[in-house]
Amino acid sequence: MAKLSNPTEIKQILEKHGFHFSKALGQNFLIDDSVCPRMAEMCGADEVKGVIEIGPGIGVLTKEVALQAEKVCAIELDKRLFPVLEETLAEFENIEIIQGDALKIDLQALIDDKFEGGPVSVCANLPYYITSPLIMHLLESGLPIRSVTVMVQKEAAERICAKPGTKECGAVSASVHYHCEPEILFHVSRGCFMPPPKVDSAVIRLNLLQTPPVEVRNKKFFFQLVRASFSQRRKTAANSISSLLPITKKAVEEALLTIELPINIRAEKLTIENFAALSNFLFEGGEA
Ligand code: SAM
Repeated sequence: MAKLSNPTEIKQILEKHGFHFSKALGQNFLIDDSVCPRMAEMCGADEVKGVIEIGPGIGVLTKEVALQAEKVCAIELDKRLFPVLEETLAEFENIEIIQGDALKIDLQALIDDKFEGGPVSVCANLPYYITSPLIMHLLESGLPIRSVTVMVQKEAAERICAKPGTKECGAVSASVHYHCEPEILFHVSRGCFMPPPKVDSAVIRLNLLQTPPVEVRNKKFFFQLVRASFSQRRKTAANSISSLLPITKKAVEEALLTIELPINIRAEKLTIENFAALSNFLFEGGEA
């Protein structure tokens, strides 16, 4: 069996299939022996009906996850990798490769069809250009997902896991903390990839919560408010919110005063509880 983390063997396989890396598809393949087994062990494969992988590449992580999970479905966008995967994963009967775009595919139908409705875990070395939209999609769609273990850029990992109310936090972190408990598992240097990217990476695990940490009267409005608050980081939350949503600056300032916050507070100072209180107050004109 080919060692899929060995650069010489990877080059041989790729040359044999006439494959060239696509930068646009975020194709940086792992060439480190220890990262994939660690990710596979930490992705909670034994607690669920199976694992969904996004972007198997040549199958280096897929193989390790398949050793831990009953079944793995890997979604790959690049058709050119299919003959490669057929060769590299030939000996595994519990792996299915599905061609598609992870952002567009009907994941609920996939989970119903391949995993009897789940729950499942997600494990992936993500193409970085889809990190935020994919994580938001996985968290906000109400899918039967227990946990999401993904490799992302180091800075993205820090932002995603930052607690609302701290300087590093953004709209994604607020949504992440509403839906799950995030943790950074370990860091991975750029030298562990072929070709090496310009930045280092980190593996994070998002454990989905059964119940959100705060009660919100309207989830859609809550997330609109969070996104609007962070839309212009240098401005006050009241300015940012009133410039994007049909709410006057005065109304936001009154709401802030009512929940005992300064009117010139910035989004990064607002905790998840503050966002919930503010959105509950502002939704339908002020009845908390
Ligand atoms: N898992 C492999 C590894 O760790 O070496 C490859 C990871 S590479 C960072 C990202 C993979 O995602 C590539 O195989 C790429 O073709 C695939 N990909 C890119 N965009 C995608 C999308 N929208 N949906 C599914 N797969 C995608």
